[in-house]
Amino acid sequence: MSRRVALIGATGSIGRQALEIVDAHPELELAAAASGSTPVDGLAPFTQVGGDLTELLERAEPDVVLNAVVGFAGLPATLWALENGVDLALANKESLVAAGALALAARERGGGRLLPVDSEHSAAFQLQEGCIPDSIHSLVLTASGGPFRGRTRDELTDVTPEEALAHPTWSMGPKITIDSATLANKGLELIEAHFLFDLPYEQIEVVVHPTSVVHAIVRFRDGASLAHLGYPDMRVPISYALTYPDRAATPVPPLDLASGLTLEFDAPDLESFPLLRLARDAGEQGGTFPCVYNAANEVGVAAFLDGRLPFLGIADVVEETLGAVDGAAARDLVDLTDSDAEARRRAHDRLKVLA
Ligand code: NAD
Ligand code: MG
Repeated sequence: MSRRVALIGATGSIGRQALEIVDAHPELELAAAASGSTPVDGLAPFTQVGGDLTELLERAEPDVVLNAVVGFAGLPATLWALENGVDLALANKESLVAAGALALAARERGGGRLLPVDSEHSAAFQLQEGCIPDSIHSLVLTASGGPFRGRTRDELTDVTPEEALAHPTWSMGPKITIDSATLANKGLELIEAHFLFDLPYEQIEVVVHPTSVVHAIVRFRDGASLAHLGYPDMRVPISYALTYPDRAATPVPPLDLASGLTLEFDAPDLESFPLLRLARDAGEQGGTFPCVYNAANEVGVAAFLDGRLPFLGIADVVEETLGAVDGAAARDLVDLTDSDAEARRRAHDRLKVLA
């Protein structure tokens, strides 16, 4: 039986790897493809560049939407899939972080599946399949630590976008690569995990694991812990989500233990990387604080990449913006979009002061 895939964000890092997975499996049919600005003509029967992607999704009638758009721009597609009961393979973590409860309510109404593509969350999803929720003690998300692992705050003052873009273990789009260098990516993932797995924040831990071989660990109440291991390669979680529950083959080699695999873990440095702490605070405060965290971070990252803001300024912009809003919960998408826009305005105001 064929599955019609709508791939939005088709020209990005996740998008290109998803195309490889779709090409390798005759049962996966590319029904629609979209990008923000790069042409995608001829890639699929239905294509669109920019604009309201839900129009494309309406026309294409997919069985699964792979949302590989970067940033808050992915939100309408996430909500469309959840609301319409169409399976959602979610790489675009920002939409779930920002929309949180609204997204989960849409899933409740729509009844489709939400299959995480983020590697840690795909791993955690696999580890929790078929287990009794009460049996879970805690979830551990691993972080590579990024290119600046081990540095003090002082050593981060003058780092350049080029240095921040040189990720040690993953090859990804520029926004998430900067997020990995600041640990905002793990902050977003912490909030993402809270919503995906319905776990309170105190039951989700982040540890630094430099080689990115262990993607997640679930500790159970009986003292057992299960870990998910594999080489860092996004084709594995992409393929898992698109071929669920079949777990189709990928070109990724099996783990080689004989060549001397060492697994190191360490606590994250919240002083050098305050964006992880700020994400936990924003998540615990709830309401639209996660949306504001995400919006301010997007503004900060764009300014850093443009050379308009120093590296440590990203966290300053986020912290100041979080402190300037009331964070009241959004009743609907209009409210949420307003919160996002207000956070961006305030973050831009901070930029003028810091730049
Ligand atoms: P990328 O920058 O390489 O690609 C982004 C894609 O989104 C491009 O196709 C671009 O055209 C499209 N896009 C941007 N703005 C758009 C808009 N307004 N409307 C429609 N399309 C738009 O990013 P990426 O690294 O592939 O990441 C995509 C998402 O997946 C992000 O949310 C990221 O956090 C998540 N993710 C990525 C990786 C990875 O390995 N790259 C791993 C885990 C999660
Ligand atoms: Mg991840």
